[in-house]
Amino acid sequence: MTIREEIHLNTIQRELGLIVGSKYVSTSIFECIKSSIDPMPYEIKKSQIPLSVVLPGSKEEVSEIFRYANKNTIPVFIRGSGTQLNGASRPHTPGIVILTRRMNRIEVLEDSCYFECECGARCGDVTKTLEKSGYFLPLYPGSRVIASMGGLISNNTSGHLTDPRTGKPGDYVLGLEVVLPTGEIIETGTTGLRKPAGTDLTKLFVGSDGLLGFIYKIRMRLVPALPKAYGISYFPNLTSLAKGVQQMYLDKCSPPLFMEFMSLDVAKLGFEIKHMPPPPGPVLLMVTDGESKEEARKKANSILSSFKKAGGINLELVENEEEWNKLWETREVIGSYIMQKTGGKLINSEISANLKSLPKIMGECETLNLKSPLLKNFPPLMFGHIGALTIHVSFLLPPDLSDEKYRETTDILFKLESEMNSKYKTCGGEWGQFSKRKDFFIQRYGQKSYDIVKSIKSALDPNNILNPGILEGLR
Ligand SMILES: Cc1cc2nc3c(=O)[nH]c(=O)nc-3n(C[C@H](O)[C@H](O)[C@H](O)COP(=O)(O)OP(=O)(O)OC[C@H]3O[C@@H](n4cnc5c(N)ncnc54)[C@H](O)[C@@H]3O)c2cc1C
Repeated sequence: MTIREEIHLNTIQRELGLIVGSKYVSTSIFECIKSSIDPMPYEIKKSQIPLSVVLPGSKEEVSEIFRYANKNTIPVFIRGSGTQLNGASRPHTPGIVILTRRMNRIEVLEDSCYFECECGARCGDVTKTLEKSGYFLPLYPGSRVIASMGGLISNNTSGHLTDPRTGKPGDYVLGLEVVLPTGEIIETGTTGLRKPAGTDLTKLFVGSDGLLGFIYKIRMRLVPALPKAYGISYFPNLTSLAKGVQQMYLDKCSPPLFMEFMSLDVAKLGFEIKHMPPPPGPVLLMVTDGESKEEARKKANSILSSFKKAGGINLELVENEEEWNKLWETREVIGSYIMQKTGGKLINSEISANLKSLPKIMGECETLNLKSPLLKNFPPLMFGHIGALTIHVSFLLPPDLSDEKYRETTDILFKLESEMNSKYKTCGGEWGQFSKRKDFFIQRYGQKSYDIVKSIKSALDPNNILNPGILEGLR
């Protein structure tokens, strides 16, 4: 008898229906599978299929679901848009999946200089809402059209923005409303612009990997959108591109808002989508901002001068916004484009460099595939947020590998990522710290650090009902 059969699905459906309304609960196997898959290249196992999918519309309903789950010891998995790239949005055991998408209200309070949104609001919708009033959302993942604010804040990820320029999203979070795994609802932070000194529970939940509570509402400071300038540089090879970025920081240039790169192979594909002639070498795209367009241009020009010293070629400011958007899209849609064009499946890693070793690390990334027999026949496809020293080394796997091979290859790539980030004493700045990265966390920060996280988790979630498996690395 399977777990789905053992547990009375009808009872779950009825009892959750009493909390959220019957039309917002489903135990259909189709809905359950749909709500548990993610960008990983392999399927979910039969033994992982959720029992039920539920769409609460308020924090009180979420609280009731947690109380029900605790009483019956049923795991609960929170799911924003399911785009996380380390398996964290994938349940590893049957349970209740909470979809956050009904909780998507956004309110801009200009007179208080903050906005509030519910966790299911999509990053792209928040961006558009803020843009209408002249503000900028300091959050810009490649998935921003669909990724939810709850998923992003639980990761504290800034995506394409450079940390030296904007910091992390958490730096802008003034306060939160959180439903604890035991059902209590708490508020953290402030409605003022001065963030609390000392213990501020906001910091505990921002970037907590979905382990400690359900982030229901997020309050963030409004950030004025500044005039921007756009620049492009090509390089003869990836080592000189890395040296260019190093030079920019050594020259004390004002950090760019965005700085992305693509290796030559990747850039060729990107340029092909936009019907542009092939680039002469690896490409670096950047955006700077300033109080005036002139100031933004000045910052971009200083950076281009640093690149020139490192061997950058065809360096220029891009003044035409339409032309810029075309160039930027070559990088933005690259992952999906590669998969659509080839029918293959892309697996991804995130190697975080430190500044001193950036050129050396770039070189090691170029031959990362040679470190595993499973990857040795696949050339690394490289792109990433180079202004934040992040290198995504990706591999395109053929569409006809077995599920087992996809799993094995994905795990190997996370292992190689872990070896690199451990070797250079860095740490991934995206996709969270656990799930496929639990072993890295222990290797990098020690068993004691891992035990501290476990103790915090069990203090807040004594029955381990919230997102079990992430901390244990079971996805
Ligand atoms: C094409 C593509 C491009 C991407 N680009 C980037 C990028 O540039 N930078 C980057 O960092 N990431 C990127 N990602 C990864 C991903 O989009 C982010 O990790 C994002 O944070 C996930 O948001 P989500 O709504 O999909 O969350 P989900 O995948 O649904 O959930 C992620 C984790 O957050 C938890 N969670 C979700 N909502 C809540 C909540 N309300 N309260 C508590 N926990 C919650 C979940 O349980 C899960 O553990 C990309 C993914 C794709 C597919």
